[in-house]
Amino acid sequence: MEYATLAAVYRSVEATQADTEKTAALADLFRDAGDLLPVVVRLARGKVYPRYAAADLGVSSSLTQAAVEKATGVDGDRIEEWWKETGDLGAAAERAVAERTQRTLASTPLTVERVHDTLRELAEYEGAGSQDRKVDAVAGLVSDADPAEARFVVRTALGHLRIGVGDGTVRDALAAAFEVPVAAVERAHQLTNDIALVAGTARDEGEAGLHDLDVELFRPVEAMLARTADDLEAGLADVGTGDTAYLEVKYDGARVQLHKDGDDVRVFTRRMEDVTAQFPDAVEAVRAGVDADRCILDGELVGYDPDTGDPVAFQRFSKRIKRKYGVEELAAEIPVTLHLFDCLHDGDSLLDEPLAARLDRLDALIDPIPGDIERARHQTPDGLDGAETFYREALSAGHEGVMCKNPAAAYTPGRRVDTMAKVKPTMEPLDLVVTRAKYSEGRRSEQLGRLYLACYDADRDALREVGRLSTGYTDEELAALTERLEPLIRERDGRDVDLDPAVVLEVEYEEIQESTEYGSGYALRFPRFLGVREDLAPTDADTHERVERLYEEQQ
Ligand code: AMP
Repeated sequence: MEYATLAAVYRSVEATQADTEKTAALADLFRDAGDLLPVVVRLARGKVYPRYAAADLGVSSSLTQAAVEKATGVDGDRIEEWWKETGDLGAAAERAVAERTQRTLASTPLTVERVHDTLRELAEYEGAGSQDRKVDAVAGLVSDADPAEARFVVRTALGHLRIGVGDGTVRDALAAAFEVPVAAVERAHQLTNDIALVAGTARDEGEAGLHDLDVELFRPVEAMLARTADDLEAGLADVGTGDTAYLEVKYDGARVQLHKDGDDVRVFTRRMEDVTAQFPDAVEAVRAGVDADRCILDGELVGYDPDTGDPVAFQRFSKRIKRKYGVEELAAEIPVTLHLFDCLHDGDSLLDEPLAARLDRLDALIDPIPGDIERARHQTPDGLDGAETFYREALSAGHEGVMCKNPAAAYTPGRRVDTMAKVKPTMEPLDLVVTRAKYSEGRRSEQLGRLYLACYDADRDALREVGRLSTGYTDEELAALTERLEPLIRERDGRDVDLDPAVVLEVEYEEIQESTEYGSGYALRFPRFLGVREDLAPTDADTHERVERLYEEQQ
């Protein structure tokens, strides 16, 4: 199929606000696509991969701009100007192609296959020279494009097609093209996350074929999501069970879906990214602690401090998700526990089973290894008082809050559902002054890793300490903070330093407690660094009065 045909459809879809017209244009395109249906359906959403492959094309705006410059000979500054004028690098590319100063001698018309395959290959370029190869590949497409084609090639490369087509439009268009119910298309998509597969099935096997599509190993399902409740009582009421709701600890880590077939285990994030290579310890835990040949489990992966056993802040844990090298060392530094809370497949799909039955399955197939793989801490119904005790215990163990769940609910992928509510304290962040600090031990011994924080007592024009901070910053942030604080050192005693109070930090925390340890009479529980408030002077910091008021409000 010529890319011009697709570009003409993009153009007409972009030009109309009416959903019915968008749907009709796409339905015609899908009906005429023949063998190219899978490719065309993905391209209609501006994608070249299924969601769960999560391959990132790694094409930045500056790379694309360089490619357009190379392909057209138009000066980069002018391209940038057009880009700024329209806010759309695609429109700038269109204009650059229209005004191009150089032309390839043997220009071949673009085909849909070529654009698709070229962009797919881009994602695999890695290492030295890969940026140049990407520029060349995009430039190759742009040089053979007419202005309208360039507009859409560039936007697709950047990952933003911007023609007002969402999953819903594609779903409606598929339903119209192949005369199948919209709901059947939607369900099939949520289960498979592969719109190309759904399209082919709708066309070749109709509604019955769509119904037969189900969860499959190594193809992640969209996670079921919770709504936020204002407080515990509301959470229990919201899930439709009152105080007979099932309660679970809400962990602060990464949602993971584990797919297991024999010894083959894969770990996917909530965004369907495959992070198996980053978590060899979690893979091992599943191999050792799950007694099932084939299953899909849902849970939260939480990083722990190996010395204290306390959960680490998400910021620190998130290093493990990103790290591609030195994985074993990092795993020793931040070990993980897998807290499992659902079973979606145990040889057969369990999605339509009630939660209580899925949990029975989960219990039957896990052999907990404390610290490595465990069932999420939970409590069966025990009235509001019991629920409150459970909630308080979860918070004091350093977790985020609790989840209230309706035990009769099926698993609905990809939705915020009414049958699951999250309850967690929402404390407003505080801006506090750093008054003292302490150099860390071990790896961070050059850094002021422990910072004492104070609020401002306006009545006395004095600073009064409310706690100390030692988590929430990245290594880079901590190094920058240390550099910022060292010139303020007034006195040093071993690793302890007194500082001129000049730096204000924004911090979040779990709760405020009464304390005799600090001058304010209060202590922040689990404070976490959010950022430096360069705009604030110490006297602009939050006041003692405000800390007092927040403490009262919590009671
Ligand atoms: P939020 O990210 O605030 O929307 O909260 C939902 C997230 O909480 C889920 O995506 C999970 O990653 C996480 N979570 C932690 N513990 C649980 C649990 N016991 N049940 C369900 N989700 C949980």
